[in-house]
Amino acid sequence: MERRKVTFKLYPNAREAERLTAWVRLHCELYNAALQERIETYRKAGKSIGYYDQQNVLPEIKAARPEFVELGSHALQQTLRRLDLAFQAFFRRVKAGQTPGFPRFKASKRFSGFCYPDSAGWKLMQCGKRGGTLRMGSGKEAMSIRLRGQHRFGADAKPNDLTIIRKNGEWFASVTLRVPETACARERIDGQHRGVDFGLADWATFDNGETIANPRWTRNELPRLADLQRQRAKKKKGSVRYKRLTQQAARLHERIANLRREFVHQETSKLVRTCAVIATEELSPKNMSRSARGTVETPGRRVRQKAGLNREILSAAFGMAHQMLSYKAAEAGTRLHLANTRQLKPSQRCAKCWEIVPKTLAQRVHVCPHCGHTAPRDQNSASVVLIDAHTPGTGVAARPKPLARQRAKSKSLTRETPATTTQGV
Ligand SMILES: [Zn+2]
Repeated sequence: MERRKVTFKLYPNAREAERLTAWVRLHCELYNAALQERIETYRKAGKSIGYYDQQNVLPEIKAARPEFVELGSHALQQTLRRLDLAFQAFFRRVKAGQTPGFPRFKASKRFSGFCYPDSAGWKLMQCGKRGGTLRMGSGKEAMSIRLRGQHRFGADAKPNDLTIIRKNGEWFASVTLRVPETACARERIDGQHRGVDFGLADWATFDNGETIANPRWTRNELPRLADLQRQRAKKKKGSVRYKRLTQQAARLHERIANLRREFVHQETSKLVRTCAVIATEELSPKNMSRSARGTVETPGRRVRQKAGLNREILSAAFGMAHQMLSYKAAEAGTRLHLANTRQLKPSQRCAKCWEIVPKTLAQRVHVCPHCGHTAPRDQNSASVVLIDAHTPGTGVAARPKPLARQRAKSKSLTRETPATTTQGV
């Protein structure tokens, strides 16, 4: 059994939406009360209380406040668990010598939703291909909310848990399904071997020179976003108009995120559908998009330019692409090869003669002084990672976790004799 998450959009009518809002408010109230209790017990008695102390009081709360009953005991426990997790994370970070913020009281407006940890208290009913209903609550008081969305796992997929999320005034149901492995498999229609280099000028460049253009959602929508923020700056903070503009900006951000996710889903699906081997670089967008600000003593240069570049790097969603590629490749039986960037240096290496040819970022064409091989920079590095994928016993795929000491050693060797060639022979 595998687990897969599916998100449906809910279309509650006015009464249902009001009830969902009330439920979120109650969950939030429970969260805040439990936090308050933890703080006060510690102040007065000097001892801390844990999850189970709080869980055991739930029946009393339900007896005193009958409106909590219809939320379902497991959902209430889940909210207490959420607080417990916040505390665990807090203490873990304190122990590690960091300075985390103490778990906070939350406004019900900002409370994102609630969760049913098992299949009790709700039922997902699919009718037709894209629609369905979600039944929540029990008996006469139960509500059936219309929903849209579909999944490809067929009737054998069993719903496991449910999270109700409120985002920008819209409601979503995120369901975890338990799916038999056979139902997860993806069809593959071809067995190509492709090297791919992700970048900003083109979102992806392949070893045969094909490219996928970068849609640049953020950059295209930036003027509209700036316009909204300028308008908002003229309004009185907290006024109706101010709030309306805030919501419009939030919707725009959400739209960009949706477009981006959709694009990455489509492109990665296409890739694993046609390839038996996909080779690419191991990436870390977090390091790539590090700020150029520097420190007070040694301030960085070109900070604004780097900030713009970082925005583009993050917007191109390479991390998301890698993550999707890896699970989709597993589903399709495609081998995904992640080359070690530091050892291989794909952008600096010649795909023909394997010599290092240093280039700056501005040099977009690879011209090899050793063998005369000429190719666009990104295409050349895509070829290099593909060759790396075909060399047995090398690459990160062959050694999932190189030891820290090994990594340090190979670093000094890479200049002349990269591990990729010496180990392969
Ligand atoms: Zn060469």
